[in-house]
Amino acid sequence: MSEQPRSPKDARRMERLKHGSRSVRDVRPRAAPRQRVRRPAPVLGSIQAGTSDEPTVVLSKRAVDRLAEGHAWIYRSDIAAPAELSGGEVVRLADERGWFLGKAFYGSRSQIAVRLLTREDEPVDEQFFVHRLAQAIALRDVVRPDPERRQAARLVHGEADLLPGLIVDRYADCLSMQTLIEATDARRELFASLLERLLAPRAIVERNDVRVRAHEGLEQRKGMLRGENPGPVEFLEGEVKLVADLLSGQKTGAFLDQAENRLEAGRYAKGRALDCFTYGGAFALQLARKAERVIAVDISEQAAAQGREVAARNRVENVEFKVANAFDLLRAESEAGARYDTIVLDPPAFAKSKDTIEAALRGYKEINLRAFHLVSPGGVVVTCSCSFQVDDATFERTVLQAASDAKRSVQVIERRGAAKDHPTLLGVPETRYLKCLILRVL
Ligand code: SAH
Repeated sequence: MSEQPRSPKDARRMERLKHGSRSVRDVRPRAAPRQRVRRPAPVLGSIQAGTSDEPTVVLSKRAVDRLAEGHAWIYRSDIAAPAELSGGEVVRLADERGWFLGKAFYGSRSQIAVRLLTREDEPVDEQFFVHRLAQAIALRDVVRPDPERRQAARLVHGEADLLPGLIVDRYADCLSMQTLIEATDARRELFASLLERLLAPRAIVERNDVRVRAHEGLEQRKGMLRGENPGPVEFLEGEVKLVADLLSGQKTGAFLDQAENRLEAGRYAKGRALDCFTYGGAFALQLARKAERVIAVDISEQAAAQGREVAARNRVENVEFKVANAFDLLRAESEAGARYDTIVLDPPAFAKSKDTIEAALRGYKEINLRAFHLVSPGGVVVTCSCSFQVDDATFERTVLQAASDAKRSVQVIERRGAAKDHPTLLGVPETRYLKCLILRVL
């Protein structure tokens, strides 16, 4: 039998128990007042040309949300595009009701159909690209001031500089450019001219010999866009002279994303040092400034030859380049009971896709485990991963597993990423890929 109220106050108490107390009701979110849309929704096809008459691509609700969350790429399954649209065009983006969302490069082949250029309704013309390039360069003038142009810097970092599919690296007074998608590839002459106007480089090299272009239906290509083949270009990284062959080196000539990490690694270097996956010896030469002796290992004979040449150029005599598989060398060294005071691990991306993450983690675990076996007490391990598929937390967990297996306690001195001239775009996780931990092993 239900309880009867004994007084009006008691009745109110029972009422509260049934419906929740006033305080509870007060904090319950009220339904948001319905927002009245004053403007009538435009009918598709009759959208007023804002600043231009580009074709309109309509985005699904999911794609609209993705843009709102900061992303800059929309997949083909989330768009409706006019049939006659060709790859490389600039398009207007609209939601299903026709509201303007931005302008983008359209790709006809890639699964990424749309790459955002601007959220403003502004003309995407030559002036637009001049502004974007100048904006990108302005950041580098701050984070890597170099009026004499003796260093190297990434001047344009694709989507992160709101210039999707365009990479521009400067090595001293020469530029190396990659146009990775249909839209930037079709405009490479324009970009070359604008860069010439803005920077007056000695030469502009095109390094379009990269596999990602295949997703865009673009062929492999490299050669000169302006000027003559500059041959090996010397540039400074800190006080070390490095050399990049813009036409035949890996990537655009060097691995610029690691520049600040190399300088930082040099700060901690001491004693006997080991630089695994050294390529042209860029880490090794920074370590050599403080370490007594450095062993630099790469599987490529060409890389080691370049490293030896660069060491000679710097009159450095305490670096020895070895051509070897780093996995084998690390195992052999640890089985032989060798000790190093400083170890750098900068392997190529082990995980190139989602399917290879497990294998990649085994690879990272293995080299880190060996390094923790090899490093002397109080020694430093600089361990890196440039696999986008392996995020910071997963990488750190893998390094921890290696440390635990080796029964070593590890201090994290620095958690680092790519150099500041490789900014990331908030909301586009794909622009954040490089992880570098500087560890002291106790
Ligand atoms: N640390 C370099 C960049 C390294 S890039 C720098 O700062 O400039 C990765 C390098 O690893 C490449 O030069 C490649 O030749 C080398 N490599 C790939 N697999 C290897 C292996 N199993 N053993 C040794 N080197 C390897």
